[in-house]
Amino acid sequence: MSVYLKQIELGPMQNFAYLLGDPARKVCWIVDPAWNFQEAWEAAGRDGFSIDAVLLTHSHYDHCNALESREFPKALPVYLHEEERTFAASVDARGLCPRLPEKQLRTVRAGETLTLGSLSIVCLHTPGHTPGGVCYLAGSDLLTGDTLFVDTCGRTDLPGGDMEGLRHSLHQVLAPVDDSVTVWPGHNYSELPHDTLGRIRQENPFYTTFRRTGRDRNLPL
Ligand SMILES: [Zn+2]
Repeated sequence: MSVYLKQIELGPMQNFAYLLGDPARKVCWIVDPAWNFQEAWEAAGRDGFSIDAVLLTHSHYDHCNALESREFPKALPVYLHEEERTFAASVDARGLCPRLPEKQLRTVRAGETLTLGSLSIVCLHTPGHTPGGVCYLAGSDLLTGDTLFVDTCGRTDLPGGDMEGLRHSLHQVLAPVDDSVTVWPGHNYSELPHDTLGRIRQENPFYTTFRRTGRDRNLPL
């Protein structure tokens, strides 16, 4: 399966948005459109791609505040996990999540496969940072949002966060994913902008420390 994948750093919080697409059909989806939708749209255009849907790893504003912008196309479907949709509309999410465009929302379930041309994109439900956080697995690429960064993982002290849940997500839900898969995180918080899951499992303290001591650690983000 050949994949078009472009990592774009946007905004003041070192967010990564991604263009994920089928190179044969020149169609892509944007993962976590935040801060500057126009820039991502133009980047796709320069590569000869059009964007025809949105995937959200989760609903925090720094990952999807472009949905509120005037230039965001009102026809694009926006996929997110069903629990994230509920969370984003709850009082807990006040101040953390932008208002999502109700009519454009489409929910995905754990284990569901989305099809984009020749690509199969599997939705892995990885709660812990938020209740409906997901990772998207497309062939040998895993887009992890704030569930997992190269050297750390997403914080769990915000409303909807759950350290036990995140531990389960990292060690159980992601367990079937092969070491050779490349992790593409939701922020540029590490020296490397991406890395293999195998190296992350060996070096990231949320794998090594959880495994050794089971002690919780909340690193600052
Ligand atoms: Zn977040």
